[in-house]
Amino acid sequence: MPPAAAPRLKLRLTPAAETAVRAGHPWVFDRSIRDQNRPGEPGEIAVLYDRRNDFLALGFYDPGSPIRVRLLHTGKPATLDSAWWHRRLHEALSRRDSLFTSPPDPHATDGYRLINGESDGWPGLVLDRYATTLVLKLYAVAWLPRLGEIIPLLREALPWARALVLRLSRNLIETARNDHHTTEGFLFSEDSPPRDTVVFLENGLQFEADVRHGQKTGFFLDQRENRARVGSLASGRHVLNTFSFSGGFSLYAARGGARSVTDLDLSEHALASARRNFALNHHAFPQIAACPHLTIQADAFAWLARPPDQLFDLIIVDPPSLARRESERAGALDAYSRLQTSALARLRPGGILVAASCSAHVDEEEFFSVVRRAARATGRPFQELWTSTHAPDHPATFKEARYLKSIALAETHAPRPRPRSGS
Ligand code: SAH
Repeated sequence: MPPAAAPRLKLRLTPAAETAVRAGHPWVFDRSIRDQNRPGEPGEIAVLYDRRNDFLALGFYDPGSPIRVRLLHTGKPATLDSAWWHRRLHEALSRRDSLFTSPPDPHATDGYRLINGESDGWPGLVLDRYATTLVLKLYAVAWLPRLGEIIPLLREALPWARALVLRLSRNLIETARNDHHTTEGFLFSEDSPPRDTVVFLENGLQFEADVRHGQKTGFFLDQRENRARVGSLASGRHVLNTFSFSGGFSLYAARGGARSVTDLDLSEHALASARRNFALNHHAFPQIAACPHLTIQADAFAWLARPPDQLFDLIIVDPPSLARRESERAGALDAYSRLQTSALARLRPGGILVAASCSAHVDEEEFFSVVRRAARATGRPFQELWTSTHAPDHPATFKEARYLKSIALAETHAPRPRPRSGS
C-alpha cells in the first residue's frame, strides 16, 4: 500500500487499451500504459483516465504482473466503500439464486461457485461453496491486504457458512507469508478440529472434496452440467472415464444405469477418492451399488495408445490443461488429436465419445475441429450430441476466461460396407 500522503495513482492508456476497457475487458496489460504519475504499489487502487483526461475506470494495480491493472469499476467515478463492496458481493450471489435446489429435492446441489473472478466483478478472486464450507482462492496480490475487510463481508452475506478456507495461487504464497503474515488454511471453522474433507451434494449425488489440498478448490465444479449429460446417456453401457479424478463423471454414469464404470487416473489418491465417492452413494442409489467400479492407475496417454484389448460403449476424455501458455498451443492440439484417436479405437460400434478441454490457449472451434477430424478419420458415422462451454455458475465474460469446452459424438449405426469401385 502507498504512504497515506501519496497522490492517487493515475494512469493513461493507449487508445487500443482504452477501447478494450470501454468494451468491458477487465485487464490492462503493462504494455498498454502510456503514462502514470508515479510508481504504483502492489494492490493499490489505480485511477484510469482516457485521452481527454476524463475518468475511465478503477482497478487494482500490480507492478509485478503483466496484467498491470485488474479493473473493478468502469463508467462514472465511484467510491469503493463498504456499501460498494456489499453491492458487488450481492450481485454475484444473486446470479446463483435460481440455479440450484436444496434437499429434499432429489437433485439438490450445494457445491458450486459463488464468485467467478473477473467475470463476476471480483478480479483474481474465486469463492466456492461445498455444503457449509467456503473456499476462497486468491490469484491477485491486491486481495491480501483486504482480507480483513472481505471476510466479515462474506460472513454477513453467507451466515450459514461454518468454515472458510483460504487457498492461494502459487505465485502469491511467498508474498502472503512475508508481507501479509497470511498462509493457506482455515480462516475460521466452527468444527474443532476443522475438517479438510467435506461431503457435499451435486445433483443429488454425494461427493467428497479435500478443500485444503485438493486440485482447484477440491473438486471440478465446472464439469457439473457435462456430468449430468453423461448420466443421461450411460444406461446399459460399459463406461471408461479417463483422467477421472475423483470419479465425478463415473458416479453419474453409474446412477444412469451403466453396466460397468472404469476410472483411469495417474493419481492413486484420486482413484481412492473415487472409490470413497462410490461408497458414499451405495445406500441411496441401488444402481450405483450394483454397478461394477474398476480403477486403473496409469498414464492415460500411454494406456490409451496401447493396442485396444477391451472396448467400451462410452468414453470420457477430460485431461488437465495441456496448454498453459500460448507456446504450448500447437503441442496441445497434437496431444488432443492423439488422445481422441486412441479413445475412438476403443469405442464399440454405437459408442459415445465425450471429449473436454480446459486449455485456455486452445479455443472452442480449434478443439471441436480436432475432435471432429479424429472422428471422421475413423470412417465411422458419428453424430454430434452436443457442444458446451461454461456452466452458469462459472460465467466467462471475456476471451481469456473461456477455457472449458466439451463435445460429444455418438456413432449412429454400424458402418456400411464401402461400395466396390466401379459399381
Ligand atoms: N473429469 C474430472 C476432472 C479431471 S482433472 C472430473 O470431472 O472431476 C484431470 C485429472 O487427470 C486429474 O485427476 C489428474 O490426476 C489426472 N491426470 C493428469 N495427468 C494424467 C495422465 N497423464 N494420465 C492419467 N491421468 C492424469
